[in-house]
Amino acid sequence: MRGACFVENVCVCLCDLCASARNSSGSSCAQRRRGRRETRKKGFLQSKGRFYPLLLTLPPFSDGFRFTFLPVVLPLSLMKTSNPVRTRARRIVRLLAGQYPDAHCALHYENPLQLLVATILSAQCTDARVNQVTPGLFARFPDVKAFATADPHVLEAAIQSTGFFRNKARNIQECCKQLVHQYQGQVPNTMEDLVQLPGIGRKTANVILGNVYDEPGITVDTHVKRLSGRMGLTTETDPEKIERDLMRLLPKKDWTMFSHRMIFHGRQVCAARKPNCAACTLAKVCPKVGVE
Ligand code: SF4
Repeated sequence: MRGACFVENVCVCLCDLCASARNSSGSSCAQRRRGRRETRKKGFLQSKGRFYPLLLTLPPFSDGFRFTFLPVVLPLSLMKTSNPVRTRARRIVRLLAGQYPDAHCALHYENPLQLLVATILSAQCTDARVNQVTPGLFARFPDVKAFATADPHVLEAAIQSTGFFRNKARNIQECCKQLVHQYQGQVPNTMEDLVQLPGIGRKTANVILGNVYDEPGITVDTHVKRLSGRMGLTTETDPEKIERDLMRLLPKKDWTMFSHRMIFHGRQVCAARKPNCAACTLAKVCPKVGVE
């Protein structure tokens, strides 16, 4: 049975779409077929989320009649296809920015060395506890040489309430010795140098780079790790791999503030044991992975 096109009156298409379109729209069959072709093509490109070189067909040259196929790599900006996880990540960035415009590092410090020491102390300890300890600690050990030459027992006693104090004291002291011998007492400002220091991993290095040297970095602490998984931004559990996933998804300029805002959100709304999804501004975009 042949259908008749509302516009062209020549339709041979018997699908439901054409049948209903014949009744309801004024578009021609050719237009509808073209629309469906484009939708399929777009869906294919979006599902892959990659870049594709294209072949352009040029008109015949003057010396012949053959068509020439020329491989052309379009600019990346034109060929970039959308990725649903990236789109979600950027919506989350915007929503968190609206909710926590003034998010900041919760540790108290006045110079790079103090932030370095405070970050070492914050391992397995709350920032509030560290902030109770550091004023007295920094008064007693005002510079890098004071830490490097401190009596280990005195240093341990000063930081005892932050937990794991022997390890932390040893790391602080070794780190400060290296700063004195290798960096003229200054805290280096590159990831490569920072992670060579005793007790400094990528997390601490990113805290220092992002907060005192304005070098964007994503700090993957316990909150960022937990929330990134719940928000479906990563399936990894290793902090370095999570950091890499987030770096791929987010613009570099947002890295540092994104970390602060995720930490604020983890403390205030998306708690480890009982996330408050009902009151969460991200509820519509968050897939709530692993949340019961
Ligand atoms: S919707 Fe729930 S799981 Fe997702 S971020 Fe908000 S509180 Fe956390």
